[in-house]
Amino acid sequence: MELWVYAEQRRGKLVSASLELLGLARGIADKARWALSSVLLGHNVEVLCKELIAHGADRVYLVEHPLLELYQCEPYSRILAKLASEAKPEAILFPHTAVGSDLAPRVAAKLRTGLSAHVVNIELDERRLLRQIVPGFGGSIMAVVLCPERRPQMATIMPGVARKPKPDWSRRGEVIRVEEEVSEEELRARTLELVEEPPEEKPLEEADIVVAGGWGLRSREGFRIVEELAEALSAAVGGTRPALDEGWIKPHQMIGHSGKTIRPKLYIAIGISGEMHHTVGILDSGVIVAVNNDPSAPIFEVCDYGVVGDAFEVIPRLTSMLRELRGAQLKQEP
Ligand SMILES: Cc1cc2nc3c(=O)[nH]c(=O)nc-3n(C[C@H](O)[C@H](O)[C@H](O)COP(=O)(O)OP(=O)(O)OC[C@H]3O[C@@H](n4cnc5c(N)ncnc54)[C@H](O)[C@@H]3O)c2cc1C
Repeated sequence: MELWVYAEQRRGKLVSASLELLGLARGIADKARWALSSVLLGHNVEVLCKELIAHGADRVYLVEHPLLELYQCEPYSRILAKLASEAKPEAILFPHTAVGSDLAPRVAAKLRTGLSAHVVNIELDERRLLRQIVPGFGGSIMAVVLCPERRPQMATIMPGVARKPKPDWSRRGEVIRVEEEVSEEELRARTLELVEEPPEEKPLEEADIVVAGGWGLRSREGFRIVEELAEALSAAVGGTRPALDEGWIKPHQMIGHSGKTIRPKLYIAIGISGEMHHTVGILDSGVIVAVNNDPSAPIFEVCDYGVVGDAFEVIPRLTSMLRELRGAQLKQEP
């Protein structure tokens, strides 16, 4: 029996979320006593098989063709569904990236099985069913989704929910090369080019300290107190869905269920209510500090330190104290 992880590659490089997923899947496969396989489609990507094996795969199904160089939904979903109907894996996991969320439902429909999207955690139960955990009903519950009758069990997992495993380059695995024909006629929609956004200045996932703001900041001008505190702490800036909708932050700065999952040493939430859709992205932070003027805000249930107060009074004072402290430290340094 096998558990599959879809190995997404872009321009011949594995997407980090696929490698994270291998770490998570390794634990499940070991518990279930399944083999862990990766499926890799592309052109001239054989070199990536070693990396997948080093990150936990026992086996890699490799399909190469010049027309598979860029993601194309028609042949990618056809080939993946064909491979799955032949090899009959118990489950297939995809990273919830733009590609994963396009590909997985197409494959699930072809295989006539179920799919959970936006999964924030996944566990194996005693019947070897995957308990797929998804925030539901506006974030008020954590729904457990099971797929007891159809196979494979399928899910797209949010990037960041698992840690990327340390590669073990001494691991040995099997590469199964699968020959598949792809024709121009099959490509009803075609990816002509990938245009990538310039890299973020400080990725939230890598920052030790993250300062985030929410709707309580009221305006772009109000949000500056978040940026100023972040600067004083050399921290990265994040925010909630309303902060994104208002244009105070960029998409890569949104934290939560549809945004990023982060694990900084220190997370400071300012003017953020603490709805579950946001807090699922911060629960693994080292220390959570919240500033909110409503003592009944749910963020106070998940934070380690809470300040009930007006952010426009508390934060500028904190920032100026930090700046003074830093100035004094700099003076002391020889
Ligand atoms: C499918 C789905 C996915 C979602 N995904 C995400 C996601 O990934 N990330 C995300 O963030 N949200 C997400 N949401 C939205 C989420 O449910 C919440 O609506 C959102 O997180 C609330 O953002 P907020 O805390 O900024 O705003 P609010 O809930 O409006 O909270 C604002 C807070 O600011 C406080 N406040 C007001 N004035 C001050 C002041 N002067 N000083 C201090 N505090 C003050 C208020 O007391 C309040 O608690 C999603 C929703 C759905 C349905």
